[in-house]
Amino acid sequence: MSKPIPSKARAVIIGGGVSGCSVAYHLAKLGWTDVVLLERKQLTCGTTWHAAGLIGQLRGSQNMTRLAKYSRDLYVRLEEETGIGTGMKQNGSITVALTEERKEEIYRQASLARAFNVDVREISPDEVKAMYPHLNVSDVVGAVHLPLDGQCDPANIAMALAKGARQFGATIIEGVKVIEVLTKEGRVSGVVCEQNGERYTIETENVVNAAGLWGRDLAAKSGVTVPLHACEHFYIVTEPVAGLKQLPVLRVPDEQTYYKEDAGKMLVGAFELKAKPWPPAGEKVREDFCFDQLPEDFDHFQPILEMAVNRLPMLETAGIHTFFNGPESFTPDDRYYLGEAPELKGYWVAAGYNSIGIVSSGGAGMALAQWMNDGEPPFDLWEVDIRRAQPFQKNRAYLKERVTETLGLLYADHFPYRQMATARGVRRSPIHEHLKARGAVFGEVAGWERTNWFAKPGQEREYRYSWKRQNWFENQRDEHMAVRTGVGLFDMTSFGKIRVEGRDALAFLQRLCANQMDVPSGRIVYTQMLNSKGCIESDLTVTRLSETAFFLVVPGATLQRDLAWLRKNLQPDEFVVVTDVTAAESVLCVMGPKSRELLSKVSPADLSNGGHPFGTAREIEVGMGIARAHRVTYVGELGWELYVSTDQTAHVFEALEEAGADVGLKLCGIHTLDSCRIEKAFRHFGHDITDEDHVLEAGLGFAVRTGKGEFIGRDAVLRKQDAGLKRRMVQLRLTDPEPLVFHNEALVRDGKIVGTVTSGNYGHFLGAAIGMGYVPCEGESEADVLASTYEIEVAGERFKAEASLKPMYDPKAERVRM
Ligand SMILES: Cc1cc2nc3c(=O)[nH]c(=O)nc-3n(C[C@H](O)[C@H](O)[C@H](O)COP(=O)(O)OP(=O)(O)OC[C@H]3O[C@@H](n4cnc5c(N)ncnc54)[C@H](O)[C@@H]3O)c2cc1C
Repeated sequence: MSKPIPSKARAVIIGGGVSGCSVAYHLAKLGWTDVVLLERKQLTCGTTWHAAGLIGQLRGSQNMTRLAKYSRDLYVRLEEETGIGTGMKQNGSITVALTEERKEEIYRQASLARAFNVDVREISPDEVKAMYPHLNVSDVVGAVHLPLDGQCDPANIAMALAKGARQFGATIIEGVKVIEVLTKEGRVSGVVCEQNGERYTIETENVVNAAGLWGRDLAAKSGVTVPLHACEHFYIVTEPVAGLKQLPVLRVPDEQTYYKEDAGKMLVGAFELKAKPWPPAGEKVREDFCFDQLPEDFDHFQPILEMAVNRLPMLETAGIHTFFNGPESFTPDDRYYLGEAPELKGYWVAAGYNSIGIVSSGGAGMALAQWMNDGEPPFDLWEVDIRRAQPFQKNRAYLKERVTETLGLLYADHFPYRQMATARGVRRSPIHEHLKARGAVFGEVAGWERTNWFAKPGQEREYRYSWKRQNWFENQRDEHMAVRTGVGLFDMTSFGKIRVEGRDALAFLQRLCANQMDVPSGRIVYTQMLNSKGCIESDLTVTRLSETAFFLVVPGATLQRDLAWLRKNLQPDEFVVVTDVTAAESVLCVMGPKSRELLSKVSPADLSNGGHPFGTAREIEVGMGIARAHRVTYVGELGWELYVSTDQTAHVFEALEEAGADVGLKLCGIHTLDSCRIEKAFRHFGHDITDEDHVLEAGLGFAVRTGKGEFIGRDAVLRKQDAGLKRRMVQLRLTDPEPLVFHNEALVRDGKIVGTVTSGNYGHFLGAAIGMGYVPCEGESEADVLASTYEIEVAGERFKAEASLKPMYDPKAERVRM
């Protein structure tokens, strides 16, 4: 007999895979005993039951690694807590490299692991052979060993989580399908579900979409964007192999394969480069889908198998017991979704796991439960935050094309600046074709095509990826130096643009922003929106357009998040309208000491310091068009950002280009924007500053006005002022001009790893790689911090670095006021 369906619950979790079970377990553990998990068929019957069960702790960032480590520890503990064997074994893992580039990547990961306190060791091919005698190591050039990684039994983990959830008081009901999520006044108010043909309604203010590959369609019914699409995912299991004993998990990413010994059999799984989306065109997921397998496809798996037989010769004679093909959800950027959907209050998401749902769900469930309980994430989860999803990404044709690539990316070389190759071109600037004709090499962020660099005539317009200098390094240097000594033009149309207007707009922004918003019309204010901990939710400029209208500029990638933060904090009685106007205006940035000279050729406006001071916006004529010229800079030079109505953008661009011929105007890309900003130590949201970085520790106290009155985060700023900083952001320059720094290298102070590089690029003017990063400084003065010696560890090798608390380029900001 199934349990009766309750009429009310504090939260309804939709989906009984590992994700839903983990959320239920953690919510119940936090005291949300009044939660209901509904599963349309049986627990684990979607993707969870057939996972391979690899548990690798090392992920791309500190917090993702923290979550994976949490999962590992939980799965060890659960067995004792629930009596269900999770099969969790810590037999370690080995990753081998077959190329020098891959060796660099895994050695970089090892440095990162050390920074995250993950036990790791670089091992030689001989050591690999000793640990994994069956392996052909003839072409192995390097390897790393993580002794505490392991493997588990995925279905049992989900069942143990479900049992644990029940023990803490949660209700789990199988055979109940959620049909619809009800809403009232912009928030979730209940769900309608169906059991044996009967419909029931459960009143609730919180739902969790943990519906796996069904997640997109379920969310779309509520107007919520959850861009994911399933792909076929394969492995084979051999017959028992005589004498095969416990081995570490093995990954050979250069051959897109992983190997797991289990009960004397070998499982070989693949992340082939071009995946097969599922269901195929014209087909739907069957209504009765439950513990289903997909048809075998030997032709598709054959190339992988051939490599596997060469790598593990015993496979030739082992005999295949199972050919398994199951569906798993993939997302456009290979990262899962967690958090509250920006479109609907109380609609939470934990889905889209890109084949790492078992290792991720333990930690993700904990983090989401904490987030639901506290109303804010427990730490920076931006990487997997649902607010990064763009509304257009729910388009199924887009998803279908993109996921053919994202499955394979899991084991691809994760080169810096790597761009997606599929499903491109959805969002374009009005001058896209102009830029293309002039050599633009595009990258993609949030669906926007953005010029990353300009190729020279005759130069190939493609990336040659590497961990060393890539083929565009000299192009970037030329663009960079043009900005420092002449004038460059950047197309920054992808900026997110938001109008905030209405009678209470000023009071509203005063409450949300840490800087003074009550400025005269035409003034531009650089500010942060803080959370209650004084940490940074958003980094933006706000231009006051009139007494009641403000114009906010945010990074393109954070627009949905910023809109959500604004709307979430709007009080019902406040008369304020928040509008996304991103597509209405393009942004052409004219930057460099000759920018005034260039603009004066196309505009009669007074652009002198008196006529158009730094930090102000004016409407000006450009050619035969009109632009709102904002005198600000992200590259640290004299310059103007021209906000131009999209219909006039091509004209304004052409006018600038024509006039620019006389002053040496150089078209520049985003790589140059970044190399210039890092010389100025301008922070980058998502890397250098996040919602767990305190604004004072980030070195942005100059943009905070505690004297203006109440604002969100003010108390936390005052408390930090009293208590003193625990860590500080520093800018670092390598003393050797050769090595490169990208992101996540270990940061070493006085011989000890103290953190990671939060962002890095090459300072072409300063003559070496530059990195940003936090160093602990409790009870220390600025002089103490600077008295230390610093190094950056790149792939196991340490390089000396100079540290500075002030921007190394133009510390007095004289150039922007030229
Ligand atoms: C071949 C293969 C190997 C893998 N190997 C690994 C591995 O080694 N390590 C690892 O970490 N991960 C691995 N994975 C990935 C992992 O299995 C998944 O990421 C994970 O199981 C996803 O869990 P989920 O809970 O999100 O989805 P699911 O397990 O699919 O759960 C979603 C549930 O929601 C239910 N549902 C849907 N709609 C509704 C509705 N309207 N009402 C009620 N219920 C609904 C479904 O019936 C389903 O049970 C592998 C995946 C595959 C395919």
